[in-house]
Amino acid sequence: MARYKGPVCRICRRQGTKIFLKGERCYTDKCSFERRPSVPGKSAHAKRVKKLTNYGIQLREKQKMKNMYGLMERQFSNLFKKAEQKHGVTGDNFLQFLERRLDNVVFRLGFTSSRAKARQIVRHSHILVNRKKVNIPSYMVEVGDVIEVKEKSQSISEFKELQQGDIDKNVPSWLEVDFTKLTGTVLSLPTREDIDLPIDEKLVVEYYSR
Ligand code: SF4
Repeated sequence: MARYKGPVCRICRRQGTKIFLKGERCYTDKCSFERRPSVPGKSAHAKRVKKLTNYGIQLREKQKMKNMYGLMERQFSNLFKKAEQKHGVTGDNFLQFLERRLDNVVFRLGFTSSRAKARQIVRHSHILVNRKKVNIPSYMVEVGDVIEVKEKSQSISEFKELQQGDIDKNVPSWLEVDFTKLTGTVLSLPTREDIDLPIDEKLVVEYYSR
């Protein structure tokens, strides 16, 4: 299935929760969900009040998680299979794989304001990992990896602002960042406690275990 290209705020309204897909705008009163939290479309109110089945709840959580990370269904379910095969708690493994994607790491380091922008930056070859160009958003980072904005790309206005600006980014403890050099290091692999998203991954595990 192709990636959704319509207005992303509709996804939040359809899911009935904020998914934070528009970067800084999501934290302002311009957020569409804050202004109009109703479900889009006709007879929306009726749809919302309808009680969800267990399956519906699991499906909604799966869609929310997939949309938050901006993945397509096939990528998402393949990563889940990989998480199932790994030793340990499947839900934790799954979240860790999602967090370790290069596009997510670029976003988490604060180099972009959304995962969608991070994916674009990676695809356009602005990012190096351990001094080598990596333009694959799904690339899995490892402990010790150094992620940086390519020197030539540092003249792009958004990156310049980051280098010169008064930085107040909430970078997770498993990553370390140096905004003056636009580099970041993976200090450890993220644990469940490091992931601050309003997601119940157990529902997603239940969805795929049907
Ligand atoms: Fe969702 Fe962000 Fe749009 Fe608000 S601004 S509706 S959180 S994508």
